[in-house]
Amino acid sequence: MSERVGFIGLGAIGRPMAGHVAKVFETQVWNRTLARAESFAAEHGVTVAANPAALISWADVVITCLPTSADVDAVVKGADVSWREGQLLIDATSGDPAEARALSEWLAPQGVGFVDAPVSGGTMGAEAGKLTVMLGGVTDHVERATRIIEPYSGKIRHVGPVGAGDALKAINNALLAVNIVAAGEGLAALVKLGVTGETALEVINAATGYSNVSVNLIPERVLTRAWPRTFRLALLDKDLGVALKMLQDTGVPHDAIGVAKEAFGKARASLGEEADHVELIKEIEKAAGVEIR
Ligand code: NDP
Repeated sequence: MSERVGFIGLGAIGRPMAGHVAKVFETQVWNRTLARAESFAAEHGVTVAANPAALISWADVVITCLPTSADVDAVVKGADVSWREGQLLIDATSGDPAEARALSEWLAPQGVGFVDAPVSGGTMGAEAGKLTVMLGGVTDHVERATRIIEPYSGKIRHVGPVGAGDALKAINNALLAVNIVAAGEGLAALVKLGVTGETALEVINAATGYSNVSVNLIPERVLTRAWPRTFRLALLDKDLGVALKMLQDTGVPHDAIGVAKEAFGKARASLGEEADHVELIKEIEKAAGVEIR
């Protein structure tokens, strides 16, 4: 029997993910800003739930894609919400592993399964249905979740118990952040020394210092001065906070990730909640008095 899927959170990445789910499963959506849910429903021919409680009571499987674990908690434990035995919550938020474990423990006595299922691949990966998804949970729940998320995934990997997906995602994004800071600083210095950004990247990307930041993000967003807004800097700062706390809690040195957290925290205070993550490089350019071109 086909599952009924409820999708909560039609933001920059949630909306294209939900679009793929709606092509395969009977779907209802809910979004805090109603107009976004209505425009999604008009495009995909699905129903908008009146509130999270109505969506959760209708669905067999619920997918959440919200900024933080705290936002997920507030919605899935909110007013009038009641879960029933046999349901599954798939949390696609880049969340906090400890909060994922706590939510799983709150749902389990009600007979409700939980899988943390954060994604990577950006809004373009979501539109193409090619996201990389890292799943934390028990095998039965993970297998059921895999069938539901297949429409938006290129690679799905069960990485460990509940919370493991969130832990891996936080470290992945910490590596992205470290690369943005280091590449921005290094390229600003090279431009000041007379090497163009384009030349520097041509060499770095054929040498040993390359990363997704040097291969994709800087050529597409910085050299072009396009600065598209696809992944909020505030969300990457949140991910760095999760990663840093994990390192502190496990007694692991955190020099590089600590520096990135500081840089992103400062950039968030200066650029605001809507800036894109790559715009941190604007702050480096401003401090250096140079544009990377
Ligand atoms: P956005 O900021 O674009 O969207 C956030 C969504 O959550 C919106 O639908 C928003 O509703 C809703 N929302 C925010 N706060 C609340 C709340 N308190 N209660 C209910 N709904 C709320 O975020 P993204 O879609 O970019 O990111 C979602 C998650 O996916 C994050 O954890 C992020 O780190 C992760 N992610 C994002 C990627 C990207 O490229 N954008 C890539 C990989 C992971 P409203 O419409 O009302 O604002």
